[in-house]
Amino acid sequence: MKPAASSTNAHRTWAEIDLGALRHNLAAVRAQVGEGVQVMAVVKANAYGHGVGPVVRALAGRVEMFGVANVREAAEVREHVADAPVFILGPALPEERAEIVAQRFVPAISSVEEARAYAALASAEPLAVHLKIDTGMGRVGIWESEAVAVAREILALRGLRITGLASHLPVADEDDAFTRDQLARFHATVAQLRALGLPDAVVHVENSAGLIGFPAQAGDLVRPGLMLYGSAPRPEFQPRLRPVLTWKTRITLLRTAPAGHGVSYGRTFKTVQPTRIATLAVGYADGYQRHLSGRGAEVLIGGRRCPVLGRVTMDQIVADVTALPAVEVGDEVVLMGRQGAEEIPAAELAAKAGTIAWEIFTGLGRRVERIYLETSP
Ligand SMILES: *Cc1c(COP(=O)(O)O)cnc(C)c1O
Repeated sequence: MKPAASSTNAHRTWAEIDLGALRHNLAAVRAQVGEGVQVMAVVKANAYGHGVGPVVRALAGRVEMFGVANVREAAEVREHVADAPVFILGPALPEERAEIVAQRFVPAISSVEEARAYAALASAEPLAVHLKIDTGMGRVGIWESEAVAVAREILALRGLRITGLASHLPVADEDDAFTRDQLARFHATVAQLRALGLPDAVVHVENSAGLIGFPAQAGDLVRPGLMLYGSAPRPEFQPRLRPVLTWKTRITLLRTAPAGHGVSYGRTFKTVQPTRIATLAVGYADGYQRHLSGRGAEVLIGGRRCPVLGRVTMDQIVADVTALPAVEVGDEVVLMGRQGAEEIPAAELAAKAGTIAWEIFTGLGRRVERIYLETSP
C-alpha cells in the first residue's frame, strides 16, 4: 500500500494525532456525566505523549480547567493558553511554590505545613487552593480521619482560599465495591467540610475509569486523562471513544530469509521456512517496548496483521510479510491504531508488553514526529 504523499513524506516513525477525535472524546465525557459537571482535561506528561501545545489549544474554551503533574507543565500550558486555569495534581517541591503563587496555578494541598508555606508566599490577593483528601490512594492528601481538623486549621490561615475539595481513586477499573464505598466516604467527608464554611468549593474525585463506572458520584468536576485520548480503562466504554493517535513507521528493507535463519538479537526466533521479512524504522528508543519481543505483537501492513519476529531492538524491528507479496520499501506500517479494517488498540500493545495503555502513550519517544490532523468530531 502506497503512503499518501510518498515523495514528500520522509518520516521514519510518526504519530498522526486527530484533534477532531480528541473533541469527540470530550463530548463523550460530557455525555457521560451530564452538562452540570465541569471537566478538567488532564494533560500531564506532554498530554500523554500527544503534544501538550496542540492538545490544550484544541481544548481551550471547551474545558473548565487543565490538570498537570507539576509547575513546569503548568507553565507550558499557560504558554499556549494564556488565561487557562491550571490545577497541579502532585505536591510541589518547596522551591517551586513561589512560581505557583505568582502564576496563580492551583495547588493540591495535603497538609497544614504545605498550606502554611503557600500562605506565607501569598500576596494581598489570597491564593486559590484545593484540599486533597486521601480516601484510599495512599499517595498524597490529608488522611480522611484528619480532614475536618486539618481543614479548620487551614481555614484559619490568611492568604489562602479553599476553592476545591478533591480525592483520587486507586481501583476504579479494578474493584467496584471498594470504589463505591470510597466514593460514599469521600462525599460524606465533603459534606462535613462544606459545613465548615466551604459551600462553593468544587468537588472532584473521578479519573476516566471513575467517571465511566460511577457517573452519578462525579461531584462538580471530573478529571479525565486517558479517555480523552481515545482509550477506555473500562472496556465497555471503548465503542464511544475515537482513538486520537495513530502510530506509524515504514518499511526500510525487504529480504527473504532462508529457512533456519535467526532474526534479531538473541536469535530467539528462527525461520522454519523461507520467510519474506520487512525491516521497520522503529525500536524501543521510540517507545516500541522491548517487552513486546516474542509476545505475539503484530503490526499492520496493507491492512493486514503481520507478526513481529524476534527481539525489538533500539531502532529497528522485523516483521513477517510473507503473506503480502506486493509490499515495497517505503510502505506505511501501523504500529498502533487503524489501517483499513484492522486496528491495534493501545490496550492490545499494552497487554502484550505487560503494561498499561498510559505507559504506552507516555513512552512514545522524541523521534516519533507528531503530526496534527483535524477531522470533524
Ligand atoms: C493522571 C490523573 C488523572 C487522570 O487519570 P486517567 O486514568 O488518565 O483518566 C486524574 N487524577 C489524578 C490525580 C491523576 O494523577
